[in-house]
Parts: sequence; structure tokens; C-alpha cells
Amino acid sequence: MLVGPPGAGKGTQAARLSERLDAPHISTGDIFRENMKNETDLGKEAQRYVDAGDLVPDEVTVKMVKDRLAQPDAQEGFLLDGFPRNAAQARELEDVLSELGQRLDAVLVFEVDDEELVKRLTSRGRSDDTEETIRHRQEVYRSETEPLIEHYQDIAVRVDAVGSVEEITDRAMDALADEPDD
Ligand code: ADP
Repeated sequence: MLVGPPGAGKGTQAARLSERLDAPHISTGDIFRENMKNETDLGKEAQRYVDAGDLVPDEVTVKMVKDRLAQPDAQEGFLLDGFPRNAAQARELEDVLSELGQRLDAVLVFEVDDEELVKRLTSRGRSDDTEETIRHRQEVYRSETEPLIEHYQDIAVRVDAVGSVEEITDRAMDALADEPDD
């Protein structure tokens, strides 16, 4: 599982780690964006929350993740990016994983200072990257998601996420290799 503030580069790194580890990249943000683009029912339901920088209701998000984790390609491992994002989702994830006979091996915590985050986000140009929604997403992260890290402290490893894309991937791979549970 990857965790870090909006703009920490989780998506970029998850895609690269997915190749190196040969495990699917499951990004709730990507799944929502794909569904919004295709105007599916799920996409229509998620749109206003994503646009506002709010969390999509847990009920919707949890069901989506549950379905995705049950797919054949996720049975040998997966990279979870953007989920769980609050305590309720973390509890649901535990249930889902135990039903599937799976567990989390490691939580990669991406660390980037605030100044760098704003710089990255304002140059990204995604439709939910206006200054106001960025600020709101950061608040949601600090209040709802960051507190989860403590819950995962036994398997959490910190990754300095400032540097070149390649350097950060190497650091993440090293961090995973250092995990005693791995
Ligand atoms: P970022 O990390 O930049 O916030 P994401 O692509 O992870 O971007 O998420 C974009 C948006 O998708 C979020 O602001 C939120 O509206 C929605 N979203 C993603 N993951 C979740 C989740 N686990 N629970 C609820 N909403 C989510």
C-alpha cells in the first residue's frame, strides 16, 4: 500500500513499482477518473466529490476496491494506491483482505515537504488541481489519511519522495527489501 499527500508522486511510483514487482497497480483515483471519462454510473456518482476534492462516500469506494481486489490478477499481490484514506476504509480493507486470504506486506509512506507539493500540483494540470481543491485535498489528507500511518506502524516504511523519479523508485524498492516481513 502507498500513502502520501496529494502530489507526493504515488501514482508515478506505483506504476513503476508495479512493473518491477509484477503486481497490478490499483489506484482508486485512476479508477474514478476512468469511470468519469466513460460516464459510467460509478463515474457520475463520483464526479462531484472528485471535483470538490472530497472523498467519494466509503460505501461506493469500498465496493469498488473489493471488486478490484477479487480479480484474478490481484491474487498474487497488488499495489494499493489511494486506499484506504480514512479509518473506516482501513477497517473495511482488513475484512476484505481476510476474506480473500490476503494481507498487506508493507506500507510505503511518501514524504515530501509542502512547498514542493504545491509546486508539483500546480504544474500538473489535472481538472481537480485548482488551488482551492488542492488545499482542500491536503486538509483531508492531514485530518483523515495521515493518522492511519500510525495504525500501520509495524509495516510502515518511509520513502523520501524528493529527487528524480528513478531515485525515488530505487529508494522505494530498497525500503521494501528492508522490510523484515517481506
Ligand atoms: P491525489 O492523491 O492527488 O488526491 P487521487 O488520484 O488519489 O489524487 O484521488 C483523486 C480523487 O479521487 C480524490 O480527491 C477523491 O475525490 C477520490 N478518491 C480517491 N481515492 C479515494 C478513496 N479511497 N476514498 C474516497 N475518495 C477517493
